[in-house]
Amino acid sequence: MEIFWFVLGGVVLVLLIAAVTIIVGKERTLPPAEPAPALPSAEPEAAHSAPDEPVVAPVATDLSVPEPVGSRLSRLRRRLSASNNPFARGLLSVLSADRLDAEAWEDLEATLIAADLGVGPTEELVSALRRELTIDGASEPEHVKQVLRAELLKLVDTPADRSLRVTGADGVPGIVLVVGVNGTGKTTTIGKLSRVLVAEGHSLVLAAADTFRAAAADQLQTWGSRVGVEVVRGSEGGDPASVAFDAVAKGIADGVDVVVVDTAGRLHTKAGLMDELGKIKRVIERKAAVTEVLLVIDATTGQNGLAQARVFTEVVDVTGIVLSKLDGSAKGGIVVPVQRELGVPVKLIGLGEGPDDLAPFDAEEFVDALLAQ
Ligand code: GDP
Repeated sequence: MEIFWFVLGGVVLVLLIAAVTIIVGKERTLPPAEPAPALPSAEPEAAHSAPDEPVVAPVATDLSVPEPVGSRLSRLRRRLSASNNPFARGLLSVLSADRLDAEAWEDLEATLIAADLGVGPTEELVSALRRELTIDGASEPEHVKQVLRAELLKLVDTPADRSLRVTGADGVPGIVLVVGVNGTGKTTTIGKLSRVLVAEGHSLVLAAADTFRAAAADQLQTWGSRVGVEVVRGSEGGDPASVAFDAVAKGIADGVDVVVVDTAGRLHTKAGLMDELGKIKRVIERKAAVTEVLLVIDATTGQNGLAQARVFTEVVDVTGIVLSKLDGSAKGGIVVPVQRELGVPVKLIGLGEGPDDLAPFDAEEFVDALLAQ
């Protein structure tokens, strides 16, 4: 009898092990998990767009590693040098002039105006150069270069703080709001900036609050998933403020360091823009302070782009400029009027469409890169 119970016990044990093996095997072959469910909206203004509830996009598992800062910066410096940059070529032409006569100065003036340095700064620079170089009487290229460097630096350098305020206080994430006219490079800049922040060890969440173009959210999602950053997005035409709010709520819940918010840059009317950006900012600030407002300006659009950008500074409190598309642009002089006229420092420059083509702006490095031959 004892043997019967012993055998029965053994059979039951074997059956149990077999059943567990089959169940575990099945779970392993299940398809990957579905994307995270939509985030609940806690506040009324954000909740009113319930049908468009933002969702958190899944991230890819094959993450790419951002280029180290050192090699990135030296590669980008080369993009500004005369061999690659028409603005730098124009500046250096003054060095190769046989004589610094009236015609040479006129040529330089024309080059600087065409580079969008602006009439005022161009006159200041040329008259300073004429004064110094004529008094000295010397025209060795190295000396001219030193004088040019010092005078350019006076125009480009400003005492303003160029550091990015990406982290918040008291355990709340820093909030970076990115604004600017459509097509200037906002989404691309956020993609590149995310890589820099991830490489620096920050955790972040992106908000695709440009809900007017589905492609913008897709683009942001592609950037985010490359570096393992989650993107909160809504449906096309949904409420941008709601997406921004939910991204900030998620950022707080997940304890991330930074939430970066992409916005639409439709320049319909100033009042419309003010409504849109004002609402996004107001809704975010129920949860966390906006620590940085970056205005992206396309360097190739020159004075015209600057005029459009001015509207944004009248609508939101811009704390830093991103000058995009400086690679290959003949209009690099725009950096001077941008800072003077908007009274905001350039903090970042875009030097290409590649993932690591973003550099912090440093006046000395910028001028040295322009004058490098
Ligand atoms: P948004 O509408 O402001 O979000 O602009 P996008 O980020 O979609 O950029 C518009 C176009 O500009 C895209 O084709 C980008 O690849 C391109 N772009 C953005 N930044 C740069 C840059 O620094 N250099 C160059 N050459 N192209 C850029």
